[in-house]
Amino acid sequence: MDTGLLIALLNPTIALALGAAFLVLWFHQRHRPYLAVLATSYCLSAPGFLFQYFTLPVGMVLTKLVSNICFTAAGCCLSSAIVARYGRRVPYVGIALTTGGGLAAFSWFMFVQPDLTWRILSMNFGFGALSLLVAAELRTVRGNGPTEKILFVLSLLSGLNFVVRTLIVVIVHGPFPSYDGFYGSSYWTTALLSHALLSLLIALSLFSAAALDVLKALKAETYTDPLSGLLNRRGFEERAALLLDQCAKAKFPVAMVLADLDHFKALNDQHGHAVGDRVIADFAAKLSFATGTRGAAGRIGGEEFAVLLPLCDLASARLFAEAIRSLYSSGGVASLPRGVRVTASFGVAARTGDEGLAPLMRRADDALYKAKKNGRDSVRLSYERPETVFVPEPASVG
Ligand code: GH3
Ligand code: MG
Ligand code: MG
Repeated sequence: MDTGLLIALLNPTIALALGAAFLVLWFHQRHRPYLAVLATSYCLSAPGFLFQYFTLPVGMVLTKLVSNICFTAAGCCLSSAIVARYGRRVPYVGIALTTGGGLAAFSWFMFVQPDLTWRILSMNFGFGALSLLVAAELRTVRGNGPTEKILFVLSLLSGLNFVVRTLIVVIVHGPFPSYDGFYGSSYWTTALLSHALLSLLIALSLFSAAALDVLKALKAETYTDPLSGLLNRRGFEERAALLLDQCAKAKFPVAMVLADLDHFKALNDQHGHAVGDRVIADFAAKLSFATGTRGAAGRIGGEEFAVLLPLCDLASARLFAEAIRSLYSSGGVASLPRGVRVTASFGVAARTGDEGLAPLMRRADDALYKAKKNGRDSVRLSYERPETVFVPEPASVG
């Protein structure tokens, strides 16, 4: 097998392998349509490369057109998928203008004013503009991990590869009057090799991005309680520790509220476990709404909940707990049979000094225990003096 043929088969083989890999990924993650679009893109570029080398029975001119249509469709899919993956709105107009412009110019220099060099320039400039458009979209993306920066650089490189490399090769080795010897030319060899390398690197970055998506989803699943949608104990402890740390650094007050539904066993016994589950979900929704995004709310046991409230001292955390307690005890759980009332008891503690999560929770739990002993449906506080007491310096006697 000659080297030219080997090189010609390199890109379609890589493209098909990557297309298949993205397809498999998409089968496992149907909720990420960008993976299917990526698979389509890589699968479309395979015939694009093949029809550059092998001529269809329709003749060379039409085969070249089919090949470039495949490349154009692949480019549209790849750019839309990348932009969509990073949460940006796909710039359909820009994509249509760059790729449509390239293809229209290509057709002009094929059918109206035949010129191979200008056909090469038309397609490459079109794809160059498309790559730069993707780079411009990714430029503004933040907080999605390292892959966004890598893809931004690769899009820039791809744009330069299409425009600068093509220009240099055409100026130094061009013009190309016909396809005779074209596939052995420096243009074709550098094009194939650089595209093989860039498409591999882009695909690797996209695989990493997809893998990071899966890891993020798994992490969210590990830290979330499915019944209530709140953080589970593990998730709550991790988030609360982080918030405590941030509050310590900023010297912000922070408070812990623990809540436990009253006589829940009896409720389950009388109305069934399913009703109990609905009550847990309802209580969690109210707690989550009241906490907002600033704090952390978790279901840390069967019918036990914890809320960490940054920027709250004991008094404001008490108000928070009182508000939920009175809302709950006044009735209003939609899924409960008429006349059935659920109440909850609360323990509140505000952090003193650089108190850690465990002692803070213990104090809130002691307060909760007092609320239970006090007849339930109430809020109790843990009073603790700050460890470091401010001692004013003695006034200097002058
Ligand atoms: P207290 O007022 O002293 O807190 O009494 P209680 O009955 O609420 O407390 P206890 O600890 O005796 O019982 C808790 C009950 O919560 C027992 C268990 O069946 C129920 N429970 C725990 N997890 C779930 C759950 O996911 N769904 C339902 N429906 N019930 C649960
Ligand atoms: Mg209880
Ligand atoms: Mg309990």
